[in-house]
Amino acid sequence: MTHLIMAVNSGSSSLKFELFSMPAERTLAKGLFERLGSGSAVFTLRAGERRQQAEVALNDHQQAADYLLDTLLQQGVVDSLERIDGVGHRVAHGGETFRDSAPIDDAALVEIEKLSALAPIHNPVNARGIRAFLRRLPHAVTVGVFDTAYHQTISEAGYLYPLPYRYYQDYGIRRYGFHGTSHKYVAETCAGLLGRRDLRIISCHLGNGASVCAIDGGRSVATSMGFTPLAGLMMGTRCGDIDPSIPAFIAERENKSAQQLLEIMNNASGLLGVSGISNDCRDIVSAAESGNHRAALALTMFTDRIRSVIGAYATEMDGVDVVIFTAGIGENAAGIRRQVCRNLGFLGIRLDDNKNERHLTFIQQDGAPVIVAVIPTNEELMIARDVMRVGLRLPKEVQHVG
Ligand code: ADP
Repeated sequence: MTHLIMAVNSGSSSLKFELFSMPAERTLAKGLFERLGSGSAVFTLRAGERRQQAEVALNDHQQAADYLLDTLLQQGVVDSLERIDGVGHRVAHGGETFRDSAPIDDAALVEIEKLSALAPIHNPVNARGIRAFLRRLPHAVTVGVFDTAYHQTISEAGYLYPLPYRYYQDYGIRRYGFHGTSHKYVAETCAGLLGRRDLRIISCHLGNGASVCAIDGGRSVATSMGFTPLAGLMMGTRCGDIDPSIPAFIAERENKSAQQLLEIMNNASGLLGVSGISNDCRDIVSAAESGNHRAALALTMFTDRIRSVIGAYATEMDGVDVVIFTAGIGENAAGIRRQVCRNLGFLGIRLDDNKNERHLTFIQQDGAPVIVAVIPTNEELMIARDVMRVGLRLPKEVQHVG
């Protein structure tokens, strides 16, 4: 039986959506609203051969959801809203409450709002997106898909910070990790392509935000983001791990508030902060190629940090079978992949330069012990699959028939 499932990703001024026909995993419509709340939002829709872009006066997520659903009806993408059986929402933070994607009822929605303390920018907006679609599609099952849930399998020793224990008890300060939906998707896709489940995978999600995840037999056992997505790797504008006493040092010298320091570490650091050029990896690569020292330095720092984490996670899992590259940089930047894999031959990681330049799915040298894969991520599809699994309770075998 065919189900129409909507995947929704609500940001503070944006709303991305993709409507799937499941279990065929066929996209019926996809697009986004940008600049929501500015008075003139930009709406982009792709449905079959049709493409549409329009400026529309929308102020919030409710109006965007209404506009989207009315447009899908008008354009005949769906003949009735009743046909949409499920809606899956990306939710930034599931805390320790949500260990997997979950059906959302009133109690779960309250829980998501409570977790706003841990994700003040994202969870309230995610909850608004959920309410907006619930109002128009009360018959559909609603499922929350949490960025943190996949990492709930990390051990206590792996998720605790060596701070006084009461901070964990009082405020929930621990490693949560993010990008879980993406790491899970690429790991499952790769395991499917290889026809094996018992793999030790190191997944590198390298986009504007970046994180590495160690996946042993399908379970996340370590990840580089932490209490917040600021931790771990160097990113487009985020510093990642630094000596924790640096913020206090700068605060004293420059009389800055905690909020100002967070702003510097989140938005003015990383590739942008070091290069002084851009947060966009393409700009940094071309500046480095034209001989700009700080751009080249930023790339070396970026890739060195990824290499260190790969080394650490190979240790964590007593070896590695597969390294996966995904997201904007991981999928497209052959030069970055080459730099990351430099000097990792001792682990069995050996890139084939030619396959790498051609962006093939498997880019390791013939006979190399470790598989290196380039797998495009697809968080929206993972969300739709989870609506089928936990919302409509259709096991995966059934989902993939027909
Ligand atoms: P987000 O985290 O916002 O979803 P993406 O996964 O789309 O980000 O990744 C965006 C990043 O991918 C940008 O830094 C962009 O420069 C980089 N990127 C995309 N294509 C290339 C390329 N061919 N070479 C280098 N970097 C690229």
